[in-house]
Amino acid sequence: MKFIDEYQNSELAKGLAREIANHSTKPIRLMEFCGGHTHAIMRYGIRQLVPRTIEMRSGPGCPVCVTATSDLDKAIALAGLPGVIITTFGDMIRVPGSYSTLQQAKAEGADVRVVYSTLDALEIAKANPKRSVVFIGIGFETTAPTIAASITKAYQETVENFYVLSLLKLTPPVMRALLNLGEVKLDGIIGPGHVSVIIGSSPYEFIPKNHNIAFAISGFEALDILLCIDKLVRQIESGHPKVEIAYSRGVRPEGNAKALELMNEAFEVDDANWRGIGVVSQSGLKINEKYRRFDAEKAFAGLLRFAPSDEPASESKGCRCGDILRGVATPLECKLFGGLCTPENPVGPCMVSSEGACAAYCQYESPRDSENSGGRI
Ligand code: SF4
Repeated sequence: MKFIDEYQNSELAKGLAREIANHSTKPIRLMEFCGGHTHAIMRYGIRQLVPRTIEMRSGPGCPVCVTATSDLDKAIALAGLPGVIITTFGDMIRVPGSYSTLQQAKAEGADVRVVYSTLDALEIAKANPKRSVVFIGIGFETTAPTIAASITKAYQETVENFYVLSLLKLTPPVMRALLNLGEVKLDGIIGPGHVSVIIGSSPYEFIPKNHNIAFAISGFEALDILLCIDKLVRQIESGHPKVEIAYSRGVRPEGNAKALELMNEAFEVDDANWRGIGVVSQSGLKINEKYRRFDAEKAFAGLLRFAPSDEPASESKGCRCGDILRGVATPLECKLFGGLCTPENPVGPCMVSSEGACAAYCQYESPRDSENSGGRI
């Protein structure tokens, strides 16, 4: 197939779904790591296309959702400093910290600006040389190279007023932590497509080897996901789990050497705090020694007393985002879902974020979807 609409072909999708049903003999549970996959699965009605014996759970792959409350508190505290401009991706401004949001800080007079890329934030810094411009750097291996590019560019152009609060996170270490927790039994994992474009497929080898769990990397169209599920079911049925790429037009086993080089130039691996999971060893990226002066946490440490990053997070009462991010619960199991918590009035980050599982369920799930209705493709 050459064109993207071929990956959305309804007849091909239904044929593949029949194939999956033909060789699926037992109940299994799969997890999609990536928030983009959660939305694609819901949008195309993949859960209704595959046999009911295949249960799907979402994982911790929404960058806004996994940002810890204590890290949001840091961003809100920075917004309150005189002369500071906070730049951030759109979804972040509505996510609740312990006491406030960036949106509330903006309403109270803080200069908080939504940007579409970290390079936009750098341009704001260049246009406002007397102000300190802080970019809230969230995301996974997918966004880390572009954030690294803004830092190295600021270094080369001696931009003195640009800072990054690096809350970047790494995918394989949190998968290891989740599987070691053992709270949810999984038979297979739908591997993240965009992250794997950067890091390749080899960092996931520990999943089949140490945990006996099938693993296949997927793209984001209906046929990509069905092809991935087909590969996972075949692995599970054969009893020989392994790492496969079901997104060969995007992912190579070795990843993208240039992007990895850029990441390694500006960052070093450090522990990171994940909402709902806690501090996971060596699962984050901090700005390294060479570029330390761009590190917002270090630059403003004298002006603010940041809470320790491993401080327990205080979630909104009744919100089960933590459980959802660990795959322990689905959004439908949260008592606030669709009533007290909606996309218009979100309680937790999984409803705030456009990549959140609760937002996806709210947007696409209907009572009819609990039946095998043949999907929406
Ligand atoms: S439905 Fe709302 S309150 Fe419940 S887990 Fe999702 S975001 Fe939290």
